[in-house]
Amino acid sequence: MLLDVSRALRNPGEAVPFTHHEHIPPQEISGETVTFDDPVVMEGHCTMSGDDLTLDGTLTATAHSRCCNCLGPAQVDIKVPFHEVFTRLDRPQEDTEADPDRWVFLGSKAELSHLALTLAVLELPIRILCKPDCEGYKQMAPGYTNPQKSNPFSVLQNLQLKNDQDDQEV
Ligand SMILES: [Zn+2]
Repeated sequence: MLLDVSRALRNPGEAVPFTHHEHIPPQEISGETVTFDDPVVMEGHCTMSGDDLTLDGTLTATAHSRCCNCLGPAQVDIKVPFHEVFTRLDRPQEDTEADPDRWVFLGSKAELSHLALTLAVLELPIRILCKPDCEGYKQMAPGYTNPQKSNPFSVLQNLQLKNDQDDQEV
């Protein structure tokens, strides 16, 4: 989404505070879907100097995925500081897309969606856990079989339940 930076443009050198709300769509990361609560909040101040707009602030987000160990729901609270420089362009340039390390903006509005996504995803742990000491790892131990998946009796139980329901319907 776009951040209106016209006040910073009118007042070069002045730190202008901003609070910006972003939406991050669900992401596929290592085969798992990670969703982000709305809104993702970016808060801080921006300063214009020459053609450069410096953004200083903190991104706050809540991510949801599956626990690596027990496969239960897991939540990650993200709070990451950022310091980024956006360069103002007078008109769209074709080569800017090719340089991911350079943020640019046109006119008086800066698009922060990509920055928000980058900051939030990079801040995610490699292994998302439901809690730091999740004991689900025991289920990964050699020789352990997941009863929900491979226990033949659980299948029988399901069948039994289904039969009961059928009986009631008759
Ligand atoms: Zn877990």
